[in-house]
Amino acid sequence: MSKYLIAGNWKMNTNADETRKLVSELSASASKNQEVEMLVCPPFINIPGASELLKDSFVSLGAQNCYFEEKGAFTGEISIPMLKAFNLEYIIIGHSERRAYFNESDDLIAKKLEAILNHNLKPILCIGETLEERNAGKTFEVLKNQLDIDLSKADLLKISDMVIAYEPVWAIGTGVSATNEQVAEAHKWIREYLENNYKTEAAKIKILYGGSLNHANAKEILAIPNVDGGLIGGASLKSESFLKIYNTAIELS
Ligand code: PEP
Repeated sequence: MSKYLIAGNWKMNTNADETRKLVSELSASASKNQEVEMLVCPPFINIPGASELLKDSFVSLGAQNCYFEEKGAFTGEISIPMLKAFNLEYIIIGHSERRAYFNESDDLIAKKLEAILNHNLKPILCIGETLEERNAGKTFEVLKNQLDIDLSKADLLKISDMVIAYEPVWAIGTGVSATNEQVAEAHKWIREYLENNYKTEAAKIKILYGGSLNHANAKEILAIPNVDGGLIGGASLKSESFLKIYNTAIELS
């Protein structure tokens, strides 16, 4: 198992040409490294193109969402088997943008998580509190509620394939990351939650930090105990900035 996972969430950015350019630049620089894994999650439509270019590279491929049913009358949705056909390993679920703009509930996220594990892929489950919730002293209540429901259907035998991304909503895309103390406290709390529920498997579950992670703060944040990598939005859209974070992880590993 690698020490760090450095994951890029491209969101609704990059057309086909931009995807080819970014993927080619990243795969040219990613090395075979046991300790640091690089992952890119382009928009659905560019996954086939990215998959082709990444075939013999050291960059892993993921999606930003999926539906839990395998096929059928679900207009506009993409199933896990459809994604799996492109040698994809990871699927992000529960991102705060999907929770906020598309009304995704924890019950729906639980079904997606269950289905992804059952298909032997790795869910990256995003959890995190809003600023109002933090200011009201409810951060850990919110995280507990999200984890309790989101993990309620997970196959315990496959739980170590799961990745958790702690993403305080107020830090996403704002340029203001959580402080080192806030990151340390939240990641420690999440690790303890996993230990209480999954015993020895807990140590194998990666906990990523997400929220305005960039080349300037990566060294400090990735060095915090229980931080096993980053989920990166804005800074993953340019190869230069994403590679700086990736290389920081290599330095630290
Ligand atoms: C994200 O969207 O998961 C994210 C962390 O975005 P950013 O790095 O831009 O804050």
